[in-house]
Amino acid sequence: MIALRFGNTLRKFSTFTLNRYTLKSNLLVGKMSENREISTSSDESTGNKESSNTPYKAGRSQRLQITDNEWEKHLDEERFYVCRKKGTELPFSGKYTENKSTGLYNCACCGAILFSSQSKFDSGCGWPSFFQPHVVDGENNIQENDDTSLGVKRTEVICKQCDSHLGHVFPDGPPPTGLRYCINSLSLQFEAKDKL
Ligand SMILES: [Zn+2]
Repeated sequence: MIALRFGNTLRKFSTFTLNRYTLKSNLLVGKMSENREISTSSDESTGNKESSNTPYKAGRSQRLQITDNEWEKHLDEERFYVCRKKGTELPFSGKYTENKSTGLYNCACCGAILFSSQSKFDSGCGWPSFFQPHVVDGENNIQENDDTSLGVKRTEVICKQCDSHLGHVFPDGPPPTGLRYCINSLSLQFEAKDKL
C-alpha cells in the first residue's frame, strides 16, 4: 500500500491501482525511497495540514501522469477547474493574493516547490504575483507553453511535475527579471517558513 498526497488529502493506493495511473515505475520506486509523503506510511494525519513536506523534490523533472478522472476524485470543484481545466479564479478572490508571510508556494496538486515569498510582489492585478520561479540546484518546476486560447498570444505556466495549470507569465514585472508570474491561489499551497 502506498500513500500519495492530493492537495490536502492523503490517499492510499494498491500497487495495482497505481499502475493504472500510468505512473512510471522507476519514478515511483525512486520517490518512495527519497520522499516522506510517498511512502509506506499509514498515518492519514500527515496529509491534512498545510504541510511542510512535499511529495516531490524541487529540481527533479519526473512527470506524474494521472488522468483527469482521477484528479477529479481528489480535487474540489474549483481547484479541478483551475488546475486541470486551465481555469482562472476571480481576481482578488484567492487566499494568497495578499499573503506576505515568509515561505514557499508549492503546487496544490503534487507538492512541487514553485515559488517563494522572496520573489512575490504586489502587482495589484488581483492574483499572487512573482518575478521568478523558485530555483533549487539551478532548476525550477515551471514549464512555459504558448497559449492562444483568447485569440492573443500569452504564455501559460504549468507545473513541470504534474502539468497542473498555474497561470500565465507576462513581461511587465519588476526588476531583476521584468517578469510577472500571475498565478491562481487555487494552484498553490503555501508552506510557511521561519526563514528561506
Ligand atoms: Zn504539480
